[in-house]
Amino acid sequence: MRQSTGEDRRSALGEASMLRWVWDGLQLCADRLWQGTEDEDGGWRVSSQKEDDPLVTVAKPHDRLLGGLLSPDFDDRSCLSRYRAVLYRRPSLHVLSSHLVSALRRYESLHRLCGPGTSAYERAVARLRSPPTPSNTSDGDAAPSVCRYIVWTPHAGLGNRMLTLTSAFLYALLTDRVLLFHRPGDDLKDLFCEPFPGSTWILPDGDFPLRGMERFDMRTGESLGNVLGRGEGTLEPPPPWMYVHLRHDYTRGANDRLFFCDEGQNALRRVDWVVLLSDNYFLPGLFLIPRYEQELARMFPRRDAVFHHLGRYLFHPSNTVWGMVMRYHGSYMARAEERIGIQVRTFAWAPISTDELYSQIISCAHGESILPRVREREPRNATTTGAQPDSGQPTRSKAVLVVSLHGEYYERIKDLYYEHDAAGGEAVSVFQPTHLDQQQSGERLHNQKALAEMLLLSFSDVALTSAVSTFGYVSHGLAGLRPWVLMSPVDRKAPNPPCRLAATIEPCFHSPPHYDCRAKARGDDGKVVRHVRHCEDLSNGVQLVE
Ligand code: GDP
Repeated sequence: MRQSTGEDRRSALGEASMLRWVWDGLQLCADRLWQGTEDEDGGWRVSSQKEDDPLVTVAKPHDRLLGGLLSPDFDDRSCLSRYRAVLYRRPSLHVLSSHLVSALRRYESLHRLCGPGTSAYERAVARLRSPPTPSNTSDGDAAPSVCRYIVWTPHAGLGNRMLTLTSAFLYALLTDRVLLFHRPGDDLKDLFCEPFPGSTWILPDGDFPLRGMERFDMRTGESLGNVLGRGEGTLEPPPPWMYVHLRHDYTRGANDRLFFCDEGQNALRRVDWVVLLSDNYFLPGLFLIPRYEQELARMFPRRDAVFHHLGRYLFHPSNTVWGMVMRYHGSYMARAEERIGIQVRTFAWAPISTDELYSQIISCAHGESILPRVREREPRNATTTGAQPDSGQPTRSKAVLVVSLHGEYYERIKDLYYEHDAAGGEAVSVFQPTHLDQQQSGERLHNQKALAEMLLLSFSDVALTSAVSTFGYVSHGLAGLRPWVLMSPVDRKAPNPPCRLAATIEPCFHSPPHYDCRAKARGDDGKVVRHVRHCEDLSNGVQLVE
């Protein structure tokens, strides 16, 4: 390992102050830029609140920049979906704050300044490889670096990954860190476009000093929980990196949950590199941390659209995936007057038979008028068929997109409308793009198809999804729809009622810490702040509500 020399440290100090100066200037510009160009960004001003409150807008229908959420600085052809997805979705009615828009532009500047390929990045990696020691640390080394990073590491299915990435991104926004995407295998290649203009979010793996991050777990010595457990949270100098373990088992450890407390945040603030591994939408947990409360309130005057905005900002499918989406949509869905998305997910921990689940879907869909009821079969020699006797023209066309690993539910719904007339005379066509039978999150084509289906679902006018599925959360979150949720079975039986209209479009944080930082004892995270409540589809979880 190369030791850092005095010259290295002097130039690092010079560069650090230069970067700080550039960064401070950029922050100021981003704030002013918003004020000056607010109307040109295509947003409709909805209300101007108290002087220091952010302006809020609702994007105009079909505004390619989503009311200023997206940067205009991209080449359209490199990522066809970025500015076009809006043409296929229902208009977003969710208010967007000027403060979030400024924060995003500021973040993009930081990413350009510190991202891979910059000299600041090279220096930060060199510091990680050869960290300053107490003997060679100068005052300059002790100053907090402008370029600090959070490295996201993939874990679990695609829905989980997209939700943890979004959580990591909001954490990066709150802590002025640069989000880097660790892609150890091939499975996440050619899936998403770059979200940040003029830079990349892909961690260059080649010479990155930390290896095997995807295998980190609660025993990793550098984990926040273990560092705090050893009483090393305030060591000087701070360690060059720490690992944040927020996989579902994190609540079993004594200290990993301190991420959601001041103690954990104080320890992390001093560290240049944070590696994160999670399968949880831990974003609602950030709303439990008092130091971020004010900033979050300014970014999200309505707390129930956080994933909706950040997901639409971050996730633009690659041209390959967008090709699948466009071909399928154009062939099967585009001409329908109404699009209904049905996502059927089963979990081994909540067993239910195919017959029982099918009945649950139909009883929800008919009971809530999501799908038309059907007429009982009429005698074969009847000359007319119910509501379309004269012209034979259906009253309305509905395209039903069934998305599931399994084919049975699609087959049965399709047969239902093949064998019977819809009671109101509607033309109901039923489609399913794939039924892959098994989750294979390690395969690129499998993930591309899964993403394409999430996107197709996000074009729905009405959504019927399965409880506790992150795949479903992403789809209706991008759509901006409150879905009808098929509640989990109880003793292998569908519950009564079979479904509920979700209280929020926000995903559920399945394993919150349930920890009272002040009392240092078990707590109930669904009762701490106004906007974080227990989830309807998983009572132990919490979610953001308005
Ligand atoms: P969750 O398990 O429902 O929370 O969702 P995840 O997306 O995290 O993991 C499930 C994975 O199984 C997905 O990422 C897909 O790889 C696969 N999968 C589950 N349901 C479907 C589906 O309806 N269509 C496709 N194409 N893949 C699915």
